[in-house]
Amino acid sequence: MKNIAFRVLALICLLPLANVYAQENYKEKDSKYTYQNEGFYEVKIYSEDQLKFKKHPRNIILLIGDGMGVSQVFSGITANKGKLHLQNMKAIGFAKTQSSSHYITDSAAGGTALSCGKKTYNGAIGVDPDKNPLETILEIAEKNDKATGLVSTSAITHATPASFIAHQPQRNMYEEIAADFLKTDIDVFIGGGETFFKERKDGRDLTNELKGNGYKVFNNLKDAKSTKSGKLAVLTAPEHNEKFSQRGAMLQEATDKSLEILSQDKDGFFLMVEGSQIDWGGHQNNTSYVVGEMLDFDKMIGDVLEFAVKDRETLVIVTADHETGGIALLDSDIAKGFVKAGFATGGHTGVMVPVFAFGPGAQEFMGIYENTAIFDKMLKLFRFKN
Ligand code: MG
Ligand code: MG
Ligand code: ZN
Repeated sequence: MKNIAFRVLALICLLPLANVYAQENYKEKDSKYTYQNEGFYEVKIYSEDQLKFKKHPRNIILLIGDGMGVSQVFSGITANKGKLHLQNMKAIGFAKTQSSSHYITDSAAGGTALSCGKKTYNGAIGVDPDKNPLETILEIAEKNDKATGLVSTSAITHATPASFIAHQPQRNMYEEIAADFLKTDIDVFIGGGETFFKERKDGRDLTNELKGNGYKVFNNLKDAKSTKSGKLAVLTAPEHNEKFSQRGAMLQEATDKSLEILSQDKDGFFLMVEGSQIDWGGHQNNTSYVVGEMLDFDKMIGDVLEFAVKDRETLVIVTADHETGGIALLDSDIAKGFVKAGFATGGHTGVMVPVFAFGPGAQEFMGIYENTAIFDKMLKLFRFKN
């Protein structure tokens, strides 16, 4: 009897305490797993008769949201009260992302599949499973006299942009990857990673070598403002750029600057722009990081679509290398721009990723196919001089 009475007493005493802990736990989780948008933006929706495209693309712009699965896209749609610029892209497909070595790819193999059209092992940068170099879509464009460019919110030497211009057996060979930027006549590149160009084991200062090759080189976008043509390298951070909340409109400004310069080439251009940190928000299981990066990526898409509508000869493709976080959208609210998410993993997942296309040849991207087919389709559609 005494024992039971004691237990009941103990329970009554401990209950409020347990409750406090539960609430605090919930609060902490709440801030990481939910996001209330306070920066809504207008989205321009184009009507059918505004979209008059030529038959073949002279220019291709490939936009990669690293780690951007369907949930990441819909978290952005939810947060911006039901609308993204992305929704103008009506030819939609899905890409399977498996690498040659793993069911779940990393960004190096995922990037190389898109840039070179070959499945390779996790960690590979522009090389096949036997570590032989593969020709990238950027190199092919360059060879055909087109202008070329790369933009990234990570270091420009990081896996995704690297796989379009470098050929190295491992993604973490940042100094070797930086040196590969001098082997291709790329016209514009903007992203972080200044350290790998300047503070190197081999003592080379690649920024000086770039200047020798005719590049204007800056370490911030403000200084690059007056550069309106010619070759341009902007290394916007020692390593990676800040996250969305700290880096301002870097991605939009870098993309606009690239378009301004590349579009002057009468032979056309290839541009890859990466929203790198959607992936990092997923790795951290941080909803506001994912949504913030997703919206930042979409604002840039808005600028690119505006260019493509005017130009009429530009194919725009938006896709991802893989999904990150295994995100599930829980009880969210579109009217309020409120997102609540759960995560299945701190890593990547093996699900298909969406592919959105816009402009001449866009219909080619409908259906379900391997990520390598995106390269094949780009190559087939790209209009070269001869
Ligand atoms: Mg040219
Ligand atoms: Mg990346
Ligand atoms: Zn990742």
